[in-house]
Amino acid sequence: MKPSSFEYHEVRTVQQAVEILAEVCADDGRILAGGQTLVPAMAMRLARPAHLVDINRIPELAVLTVQSDHLSIGACVRHAAFHEPVVDGPLGHLLAIVVRHIAHLPIRMRGTFCGSLANADAASEWCLVAVTLNANIHMRSIRGERSLRASEFFLGYMSTAMEPDEMLVATDLPLLPEDTHFGFEEYSRRAGDFAQAMCLVSFELRNDVMFGVRVGVGAVEGAARRLAEAEAVLESQIPCLECFARAADAAAQAIEPSEPGDEERQYKRELVRTVVLRALQKTITAV
Ligand SMILES: Cc1cc2nc3c(=O)[nH]c(=O)nc-3n(C[C@H](O)[C@H](O)[C@H](O)COP(=O)(O)OP(=O)(O)OC[C@H]3O[C@@H](n4cnc5c(N)ncnc54)[C@H](O)[C@@H]3O)c2cc1C
Repeated sequence: MKPSSFEYHEVRTVQQAVEILAEVCADDGRILAGGQTLVPAMAMRLARPAHLVDINRIPELAVLTVQSDHLSIGACVRHAAFHEPVVDGPLGHLLAIVVRHIAHLPIRMRGTFCGSLANADAASEWCLVAVTLNANIHMRSIRGERSLRASEFFLGYMSTAMEPDEMLVATDLPLLPEDTHFGFEEYSRRAGDFAQAMCLVSFELRNDVMFGVRVGVGAVEGAARRLAEAEAVLESQIPCLECFARAADAAAQAIEPSEPGDEERQYKRELVRTVVLRALQKTITAV
């Protein structure tokens, strides 16, 4: 199929982008970033925006910068930028492991980190990273700038706190201390498919004890989220298989799978138990 007709706007600055977006958003005007979700949706006429505001020629949006305590990811930084560590230490390593699970290489060459957050798919790896590490997400509109933590940004299934006239300009991820251990595990039916369940875990190990434990799961509910129940099992404990298994059980109990049937819901709980346990086991070897 072909997309329905639309007007294409090529912009060179963020100010131009938000000015045009303000004019066209009432008419389902949308930002075009990597186009790896929006263009197929348009081709299938699942999306029919009357206007596209193409931000790919705004140089400042293609930039990754390392600040004192965070990595700032501009709105046009592609998934593929993370194939190699973009920053020394655990964060660069973590992103390089996670990115390999996103789709296939051609999609990773065009799709963007921030586009994934704006799209808010429950099975997006970058949404899980943003939620687990509590990213700071920066938006612009003609009304000004504002920032939200990931915990406030994602509202539910493909839904965010962004207003129709706002564009996401950058996302900050906190740099992780050197003693951070992390583990990522994903289950999908075939390589490159969207995940059926995934888990990202991180903690600092001080005197052999886990502190600041974060357990995030994705592809299970309407949006990725941290599981306080599993984190509480692990906090201030010495890492061991027995406490990892208890945390995985707590995670499986805590989730509310979006599937309608009892069997599918039970299947999701088993998947969560497995991905949480495997992610935790990887924390011992990942750093
Ligand atoms: C076959 C296939 C497999 C895939 N597998 C995976 C996978 O396993 N994991 C995964 O995470 N993703 C997967 N994707 C999606 C891919 O990662 C997309 O790149 C990503 O979801 C969207 O990023 P994009 O830059 O392409 O956004 P676009 O397609 O350009 O835009 C997507 C939506 O976000 C909005 N948007 C984009 N950027 C901004 C911005 N800066 N401000 C405001 N709104 C914005 C657009 O208006 C649009 O509504 C897959 C896609 C395909 C086609």
